[in-house]
Amino acid sequence: MIRQAVIVAGGLGSRFGDRTKLMPKGFIEIDGVPMVERSVQKLIAAGIEEIIIGTGHCSEYYDELAEKYHIIKTVRNDNYMNTSSMGTLEVCVPYIKGDFLLLESDLVYDSVGLKVLQNEQRPNVILASGKSNSHDEVYLAADDDGVLYEVSKNKEIIPNPSGELVGITRISKSCLDKMMAYYKSDKSLIKLDYESALKQVSISGEPVFVHKVEYYAWTEIDDESMLDRALNQIYPRIKENEELQNIRREVLLNPGPATTTDSVKYAQVQSDICPRELEFGGLMEWCAEKLTSFAASTDEYTTVMFGCSGTGADEAMVCSVVPEDGRLLVIDNGSYGNRLAKIAKVHKLNFDVFESSTYEPIDLKALEKVLSSKKYTHLAAVYHETTTGLLNPIGEICTMAHSFGMTTIVDAVSAYCGIPMDLKTLGIDFMASTSNKNIQGMAGVGFVICNKKALEATKDIPIRNYYLNLWDQYQYFQKTKQTRFTPPVQTFYALRQAIIETEVETVEKRAERYTACWNILVDTVKKLGLKMLVKEENQSHLITAILEPDVPDYSFEGLHDFAKEYAFTIYPGKLGNINTFRIANIGDIQPEEMQCFCGKLTEYMKSIGL
Ligand SMILES: *Cc1c(COP(=O)(O)O)cnc(C)c1O
Repeated sequence: MIRQAVIVAGGLGSRFGDRTKLMPKGFIEIDGVPMVERSVQKLIAAGIEEIIIGTGHCSEYYDELAEKYHIIKTVRNDNYMNTSSMGTLEVCVPYIKGDFLLLESDLVYDSVGLKVLQNEQRPNVILASGKSNSHDEVYLAADDDGVLYEVSKNKEIIPNPSGELVGITRISKSCLDKMMAYYKSDKSLIKLDYESALKQVSISGEPVFVHKVEYYAWTEIDDESMLDRALNQIYPRIKENEELQNIRREVLLNPGPATTTDSVKYAQVQSDICPRELEFGGLMEWCAEKLTSFAASTDEYTTVMFGCSGTGADEAMVCSVVPEDGRLLVIDNGSYGNRLAKIAKVHKLNFDVFESSTYEPIDLKALEKVLSSKKYTHLAAVYHETTTGLLNPIGEICTMAHSFGMTTIVDAVSAYCGIPMDLKTLGIDFMASTSNKNIQGMAGVGFVICNKKALEATKDIPIRNYYLNLWDQYQYFQKTKQTRFTPPVQTFYALRQAIIETEVETVEKRAERYTACWNILVDTVKKLGLKMLVKEENQSHLITAILEPDVPDYSFEGLHDFAKEYAFTIYPGKLGNINTFRIANIGDIQPEEMQCFCGKLTEYMKSIGL
C-alpha cells in the first residue's frame, strides 16, 4: 500500500502568460476548485497519508494549501528558475520514506488512475493513456515486457508509441535513488525532467513498466487552449465516471454506526491478506498509534484493539483492570452507565452503583462524599450518555477520583473524536471507543486507550474473560504485531482510511461541524415548539433527545418512514415512561444535509397538525 505522494510544482507555467505570473499553474480553477487541490482530495480519498509538494514559483500558494490540509508538507526548490522537475524532486527526497506516487501539479484526472497504480504489483509503473490528441503529447516506448526504453515528445523518435505519459507514476525508493544518482552524475543534466531520469533508470537495469489505460480521462494543462479542452471535454467525462462510482447516499441520524464517506466504504475492498503477515501488522500498529494520538500522548498511552463492538471494548476494560481485592464504583445515569454496571456484575466484581438522573447533571458534591469514603479503588463512568445526549463533566469526575487515588475507567464510545480531549488532562486512565462512531469508520473494531502505567499494573490480575483481556492482547501485539485472534481485516482497512480523513479534518474542526449541525437541529426544534429532554447547556451537541409531540396523529414509525423516504434514518428513544425520538448528528454529515432533514421534520410535524 502506497502511503506517500509527491507533487512536483516548482514550474513557472510560462505558457499561460500573465495568468500564471503571480500564481502557480496548479491553482487555476476547474469547477471552482484549484486543480492541485482537487488532486490532493483525490489522493486523500485513495488512501495517501502524506503529500509532499515540491514548490518554487509562487510557493506561498502551496504553503497556504498546506495549512488547510495538514497532511501536506511543502519543500521549496530555491533554484526552480534554473532546474526542472528533477530539481524539484531532489528537494523532496529527504522526506520520501518508501514507495510513492509522483504527480505533476497541473493535472486533471480520473481518480481511477490512482487505484490502478495502488493495485500494481510491480514497484515502478508509469501510468499511460491511449491517444489524447492534446498536441502536447509525451510519448512512451516500452518493449514486449512493458519495460520503458524511450520517452520523447518527438513522434519521429517514437513512431509507434506504447502510450502517452499522463504524469502520475509509482516509484520505489531504489528507483528514486538511481534517478537521483543519474541526475547528479553530470552538471549538464541540471534541467533534466523526471521522465527522462525514469527512462535512464529503466534502461540501466531497474525496469520501469508502462501501464496503459486506453481511454483514460485526463489532461495536463499548459495553456489556454488546453484549459478550454479540459473544461469542455475532459472534466465532464471525469465527473461522469466518478459519479457512477458513488454509492447511494443514506444519512444515518441514529447514534452509530455513523454515516461514512464513499472513500471509507471503498477502502474495505482490498486484496485478501492473512492478518498475520507483517504488512497487516504494520497497518494495525499504525492504526493503534493514530487512535491514541487523537486523544493522548503516544508516550504515555497506548491503544489495545479487539474485533468487537463498542460494548466489547467496555467489557474488556471493566473486566481487565479491577483486581480481586479492588472495589469499583460505577456512575449510572443512563443506559450505558447501566451497562457498565451489568458488565461488572457478570464478572462478579466488587462494585457499587452511584445513581444519578438521566437528564440532569451529576451532583458532584454527592459524588465526592461517596468517593471520600475511600472504599473504592476504581471508578467507571460514561463521558457522553448517548441515551439522552447528556454530557458528563468527565474531567471533574476523573480528577476527583484521582485525588482519592483511584483508577478511572471511561466509556467515551460516543465522545471520542467528536469532542477534542486529552486523556491525561481529563484524568482518564482507560477509555473505550469503537471504529463506527465519530472516527467515521466501519463497525468491527473496539479499542481501549490505556495509560501505559495503569495497564502495566493490571498484569497480575487473574483473567476473567479469555478473549477480552487487555493485558494479554497488549502483550501479544507488542511481541508479534498480531492480535491473538482473527481481526476484522476489511474493517481495519476502512479504519485506516477513516483515520486519514480524521487527520485531514482534525478533531477540532469535526467537533465544530457536528456543533453546526446540532445548532441547525436545535433551531428547528425550538421553532416547532418541541421540547428537548436535556437542557442545552448540558448537551453534547452529538445527539439530541426530543420529547414526542402530544398530538394524536404522531407516531415514531410515521416520522421514521417519512424521513426514510428521503434517505434519513432516525432512532427511537424510550426512557422509563418518557417517550423521545433521538437525532444524532455524528458521522459524515454536512450542515446542508441537516438543514434538509430539518425541512422534512418540519413538513412532517405540520402534516400531523403541530
Ligand atoms: C454506541 C455506544 C456503545 C457501544 O455500543 P455497541 O452497540 O456495542 O457498539 C457504548 N457506549 C456508548 C456510550 C455508546 O454510545
